Amino acid sequence: MVPGQLPYWKTRQRYLEGSLKPSEHLEEIFENIEKWEPVINAYISLRDKEELRKASKQADKAYMQGTARPLEGAFLAVKDNIMTIELPTTAGSLMLKGFMPGYEATVVKKLKNAGAIIIGKTNLDEYAMGSTTEYSAYGPTRNPLDPNRVPGGSSGGSGAVLAYGGADLALGSDTGGSVRLPAAYTGTIGLKPTYGTVSRYGLIPYANSLEQISPMARDLIDTALLFEYMAGKDPFDATSVDYDYTGLSERIREGLDPSTLRICLPQELFEHTDPVILKTLDRLYGKLESQGATVEEIKIPVLRHVLPAYYTIAFAEAASNLARYDGSLYPCRNQDAKSWEDNVIGARTSCFGREVKRRILMGVYVLSEGYRDAYYVAASKIRRLVKEAMLSATRHCVISSPASPVFPPRLSETLDDPLKMYALDRMTVTANLAGIPALVHPLAYTEQGLPIPVQWMAHPFGEELLFRVALLAEKLIQNS
Ligand code: GLN
Repeated sequence: MVPGQLPYWKTRQRYLEGSLKPSEHLEEIFENIEKWEPVINAYISLRDKEELRKASKQADKAYMQGTARPLEGAFLAVKDNIMTIELPTTAGSLMLKGFMPGYEATVVKKLKNAGAIIIGKTNLDEYAMGSTTEYSAYGPTRNPLDPNRVPGGSSGGSGAVLAYGGADLALGSDTGGSVRLPAAYTGTIGLKPTYGTVSRYGLIPYANSLEQISPMARDLIDTALLFEYMAGKDPFDATSVDYDYTGLSERIREGLDPSTLRICLPQELFEHTDPVILKTLDRLYGKLESQGATVEEIKIPVLRHVLPAYYTIAFAEAASNLARYDGSLYPCRNQDAKSWEDNVIGARTSCFGREVKRRILMGVYVLSEGYRDAYYVAASKIRRLVKEAMLSATRHCVISSPASPVFPPRLSETLDDPLKMYALDRMTVTANLAGIPALVHPLAYTEQGLPIPVQWMAHPFGEELLFRVALLAEKLIQNS
């Protein structure tokens, strides 16, 4: 994270004391956007400045009158695969260029009701398919901590705007690591919540059984606060569940007694990791142990197979989800088409990018007659084993691992080698296959200013535990 950026809860304290107004804070954000955006390219679209100034004045008034809601005057960046009525939703694809959805995502509605102000829509890999935000039809996003490097993906735009101070809070989506990798690479925080806790209504689907709209922020308290107002059962999403997170961001400040903590380190999630990252993690685990926590290495051999299982299932779901883009309902059309087939082929050929096409082809292949059992069914079996193993392990422990095997790659470094790019997700996809919550936050920085993050995973609905552990880890490592 670029130094000097406050988390929202501290900005809110200043709003409440009267030492800063939302309308003044907005001008600071505009300045950051003007300074950074020409290089970083994190926003696909921004709202009209005057419209935002008007909204911020309303927030000023609410603070003056003592009627401010919990997220009043929080400027929110929304990943561009989450539907909004203020701005188009492109999913980073030419297929949806200029697409204005007829309704907004439940999560967006909830956050607006809590006082958040949408500032813009952030860049992503096309349809959230990627790990670096280089597969966007609207150009790659760069990492504010080192513009020669990627910000991670697919929610790289959301990570980048938080890092440079272009928003207070951000939404991403996480199908296989898409908020956690950007958090890992931009020094921000990303939580992939328990499957079902956040409504997916209004999220442009990539792989429904794996993904969640997910909160991102500049610190842990903010992330918990944002999540608290996103979560909840939604009649428009049959997979959503009722679990009450009210008061989460307050409760986690109470801390955690380290001697009650059992941390398990699956060795498979530490393989192929940069030694500098491993060293910092070792230092953390040592600190936790010296405070009375139990830290133990465990083996979950099936975790060696999570990448192929994840990508097989994700491709299959993607191929089926993307069948709807047939050149009739959405903006991309083949104007000169002579027939319906001609239109379908023309639109899909010209408006889908290379990676999306690769995934559709692979997805159709793994589902096709004669291959289904060998690929999709086999992957589903691995998924079940991963889920069982993780549910059993998280019954007794909080799982810890690196968030990524490497530091952020340079631009183009992984672009022409899909397997190299997929391998960046080595540590993150497990939580999506298992449906469990996972949190990534920075522990320290290298001399070059690159973040060294950690990942925590817990049992379903264990977000509170994750935040408490993360706050403890942050405190221990900072004081060492
Ligand atoms: N990198 C992974 C993929 O491309 C995850 C993306 C995501 O979480 N949306 O599938």
